[in-house]
Amino acid sequence: MDFDALFNAQLNQLKEDGNYRYFAELERQCGKFPRAANHAEEGVRDVTVWCSNDYLGMGQHPKVIDAMCEAVKRTGTGAGGTRNISGTNHDHLLLEAELADLHGKEAALIFTSGYVSNWASLATLGSRLKDCVILSDAGNHASMIEGIRHSRATKVIWKHNDVADLEAKLAALPAEVPKIVAFESVYSMDGDIAPIKDIVDVAEKYGAMTYLDEVHAVGLYGPRGGGVSEREGVADRITLIEGTLGKAYGVVGGYITGSVALCDFIRSFASGFIFTTALPPAVAAAARASIAHLKTSELERAKQRRQVALLRSMLDKEGIPHMHNESHIVPVMIKDPVKTRMLADYLMNEWDIYVQPINYPTVPKGTERLRFTPSPLHTDEDIKHLVTALRTLWRQCALAHAVA
Ligand SMILES: *Cc1c(COP(=O)(O)O)cnc(C)c1O
Repeated sequence: MDFDALFNAQLNQLKEDGNYRYFAELERQCGKFPRAANHAEEGVRDVTVWCSNDYLGMGQHPKVIDAMCEAVKRTGTGAGGTRNISGTNHDHLLLEAELADLHGKEAALIFTSGYVSNWASLATLGSRLKDCVILSDAGNHASMIEGIRHSRATKVIWKHNDVADLEAKLAALPAEVPKIVAFESVYSMDGDIAPIKDIVDVAEKYGAMTYLDEVHAVGLYGPRGGGVSEREGVADRITLIEGTLGKAYGVVGGYITGSVALCDFIRSFASGFIFTTALPPAVAAAARASIAHLKTSELERAKQRRQVALLRSMLDKEGIPHMHNESHIVPVMIKDPVKTRMLADYLMNEWDIYVQPINYPTVPKGTERLRFTPSPLHTDEDIKHLVTALRTLWRQCALAHAVA
């Protein structure tokens, strides 16, 4: 059998649809974020990265770098095993204590990524709680969807951020079955924010546990970076808060926080936690330094808010349509995969601006976009350059303007 022919047939279809993914080969430059070298066929040159999830540039923060280097020299490179078999290091436990404190929970459990933490936790909860029903927001991330699917629990999808729909679906379920309401705080593609308090009110009314993904909010929202649930003062009412160490914290890894019993339950039954090598202790040490820094420093968050507001107001002035939301994510809608790709190519090749086109299946077809994430390290000049580039391309390509 010609397997490559089978692979290529599907790949060619992706290309025809404009949904094939081309990776930009970057070489990040410590101390110069958001600048990075771009390795392309034509050679190597510096570009400004406008789509990083290292939202605050913590990946190059001196405290974080020092913590990682210090820990590598102290403990070596890897963890040496799974958590159960010789892999549990002192740095892991220090990190888990830092995370439990961040969200005001009794306990925390770290995973090799945020994806794995969602996948493993939801799969374990959904499969181990007898007759469990998981009520999942329609906009939930692939990692939650896959975890729920793997659990084989009954899944009920409620309309995105629609509390009335959630309540109707909760009310229709028998009182005695365990229910989990799974949702996110900041949705990363539209940048919209869930009505967390209303969701918690409804969940409590029907005795459901709440599972909140704060991946795009930790480090960024709340006085200590505890996410939107901290900002709104509802963290103590959420059963499980999940997050990542790979985005605003600038390192890698994922985690859950909750009660001692909840974390012990996942620790004891989740295959995706048990049967994999623990994170390197140096990664844990670096993440802890990043979290600790952002618990007390408001500087990065304040500067980021300023730069986000500046980009939005300059886009408004030029009539370049972007989604109005309450977060740090600025999506510019193009609504066509081929045009989105073309614009991203122009920006890269002619303006040294790197923004990845966002297409299906990350977003629904017909909602393709460029998604900009201004950081505290993007200067006013960087923002002006970006808006000038977009203004020029909007003219050249006769793209629609926002109606004032
Ligand atoms: C990125 C992301 C994850 C996965 O986190 P990683 O640490 O990158 O694996 C989980 N949930 C949401 C909403 C995400 O956007």
